[in-house]
Amino acid sequence: MKTAASVSATTVSQALTKGTCPICEILKDFQWTLSESTRPQADLLLCNFHVWALARSRGKLSRSTPGETVTGVFLELLKGPLIGKANSAECALCHKVLAEEVARLRELAQRFQSPIFAQWMTTQGSLCLDHAPKLKEFVPLRLRPCIDKIVERNRTELESELQVFREQLKHGVHQGGGILGRVAEFLVGQRGL
Ligand SMILES: [Zn+2]
Ligand SMILES: [Zn+2]
Repeated sequence: MKTAASVSATTVSQALTKGTCPICEILKDFQWTLSESTRPQADLLLCNFHVWALARSRGKLSRSTPGETVTGVFLELLKGPLIGKANSAECALCHKVLAEEVARLRELAQRFQSPIFAQWMTTQGSLCLDHAPKLKEFVPLRLRPCIDKIVERNRTELESELQVFREQLKHGVHQGGGILGRVAEFLVGQRGL
């Protein structure tokens, strides 16, 4: 189910195949699309994260050099009235991300109503520590223990992978560093959320 505000291309089903928190996966894509589709304007209230996200995404979109495009974005933002850094409660883009997050949490909670899906998530799915408690608010009470089991399994798996990685590092092998990003995402979710 897409909301009117939704511009994300990633569906819950696609996100579930990535092996990390599906809500983080969707929002990562949503953040990117949002930054690309937002026109920088001086009266746009933006938080620290979204000013940088906007500058970076414009740099990739335009044919001019990244330096030129970021300069263009900053010139727009400098036109005034100067409002400075907004907190995320005031940020126009954070508001949109929040609406998308709620819509997708609702959608995922709906999927949990299917016993097969709930079983699959419990044995194979992933959720981060940010989205697990949020998802609990959208599922019936009887399904909340499933979410605790997912988090506990994810924690154990990441811990043992991280221990293997540490052993490797001691022997000078640096491959498999993706585990660090996955642990960070498990602990705090995607950046800017
Ligand atoms: Zn997440
Ligand atoms: Zn923001």
